[in-house]
Amino acid sequence: MSSAVVVGSGPNGLTAAALLARAGVEVTVLEAAAEIGGGTRTSEAILPGLLHDHCSAVHPMAVGSPALQDLQLEKYGLEWRRPEIDCVHPLDDGTAGVLHRSVEETARALGRDGRRWAALLARPATRYDALAEDVLGPLLRLPAHPLDLARFGLPTLLPAAVLARAFATPQARALFAGVAAHAFHPLERPLTSAIGLGILTAGHRHGWAVAAGGSRAISDALAAVLAEHGGRIETGVRVSSARGLPPADVVLFDLAPAAVAGILGDRLPGRVARAYRRFRHGPGAFKVDFAVEGGVPWRNPAAARAGTVHLGGPLEEVAAGEREIHAGRLPERPFVLVGQQYLADPDRSVGNVHPVWAYAHVPHGFAGDATEAITAQLERFAPGFRERVVGTAVRTTTELARYNPNFVGGDIVTGSTHARRLLLGPRATLTPYDTGVPGVYLCSAATPPGAGAHGMCGAHAAERALRHLGR
Ligand SMILES: Cc1cc2nc3c(=O)[nH]c(=O)nc-3n(C[C@H](O)[C@H](O)[C@H](O)COP(=O)(O)OP(=O)(O)OC[C@H]3O[C@@H](n4cnc5c(N)ncnc54)[C@H](O)[C@@H]3O)c2cc1C
Repeated sequence: MSSAVVVGSGPNGLTAAALLARAGVEVTVLEAAAEIGGGTRTSEAILPGLLHDHCSAVHPMAVGSPALQDLQLEKYGLEWRRPEIDCVHPLDDGTAGVLHRSVEETARALGRDGRRWAALLARPATRYDALAEDVLGPLLRLPAHPLDLARFGLPTLLPAAVLARAFATPQARALFAGVAAHAFHPLERPLTSAIGLGILTAGHRHGWAVAAGGSRAISDALAAVLAEHGGRIETGVRVSSARGLPPADVVLFDLAPAAVAGILGDRLPGRVARAYRRFRHGPGAFKVDFAVEGGVPWRNPAAARAGTVHLGGPLEEVAAGEREIHAGRLPERPFVLVGQQYLADPDRSVGNVHPVWAYAHVPHGFAGDATEAITAQLERFAPGFRERVVGTAVRTTTELARYNPNFVGGDIVTGSTHARRLLLGPRATLTPYDTGVPGVYLCSAATPPGAGAHGMCGAHAAERALRHLGR
């Protein structure tokens, strides 16, 4: 029987492990933390019974992930829940850009920009399930659906700030900019529309779903598939050198590239080691979880029904904020993402106290405290918010990196999302999962298609490993 070791139990590591085990490989997962899940952990951080997602919260890309669907995680306890409204981007005058799951409803809500929104997203959303195989993998390969991919792909080449200006209203411009800002990259740069369009297309098809009971349900379901096929997980095992690895036919690293270079040392070909060590990380996140009595008193009523709220004001302010953090400065009003997962999953609340998840985009390795800047952004769009807060739990960029070494400098998307990285992955190769050492693979979010709890990086790496094993 062939054997595999997977280092790291994030959603990519566990997806790779589950797929390998299902194919008959004897799999051991080694995880540094006491708990599995990497960026999909959930716990009671403030009050007993109040459930907070530590990292990932909202999952438009995971619901339609071909890998997670193939593993039939619903049979292993994963249940997706959808908020009434996917995302709202409020403005200072009390209006907002409102994103519904349905393209038509979104278009109706966007008024005179509705036709443009539908022209951009309706067809890709209808064809998303076919497109997913092409979009959620290395971009430089023969696509299975070239026409759909070309139609989807052309607008992604544009800088997000340019594409946003195709809309006439501040609401539609801000809505698009806020989703594009998930890339953590200046919106004037080429290809910055790609991540936003990917999220919007997936969301219009599958919704901005949350996992019932918290994102940990994703990793728990993956671990259950692995266990069913005889796989094992050892927690509290931090791998720091190749000597620390048990013997195995294939090894997969769910880690940031520089960590893999450190572990493999001179076993890695020189050019790969250099590329991994030079791998650029992007800006950071500063996370604050709030316990809020009665929920957030949003001025815009749609925000009170939305799973996700983007706080960054108009397009120009979002774009300026992203430029600032990229230049190493915290703007006075940073871009803040707010999650109200409890609206779709009420069991996360305790009585009238609700868990509100938030993080700000901050410079890489930001050493200051952004709690007040995040609170002020909430207060700006929800006057009276402060008085409702009954508890907070904070994770700085340094604490995020300590909590999970993949989040270097607080970079929660495992690498800067510049155009070259989006096109090629962590190094210039058509096989971004290969490390250059036969049988050894990189499977983390540093590889295509990048960040998210979709497991697709793990699935592609597992495919390479199975090919190596002659399966
Ligand atoms: C605040 C925040 C908000 C986010 N929001 C979302 C969201 O809403 N939706 C979404 O899809 N994504 C979101 N993400 C991103 C998402 O969490 C990551 O992209 C995803 O978890 C990456 O998965 P992965 O398997 O590549 O690695 P990770 O989840 O980073 O897991 C890597 C694992 O490897 C372990 N490890 C590291 N080094 C070693 C070692 N030397 N030895 C052994 N084990 C090791 C770590 O402990 C960790 O468990 C968010 C992340 C953060 C932090």
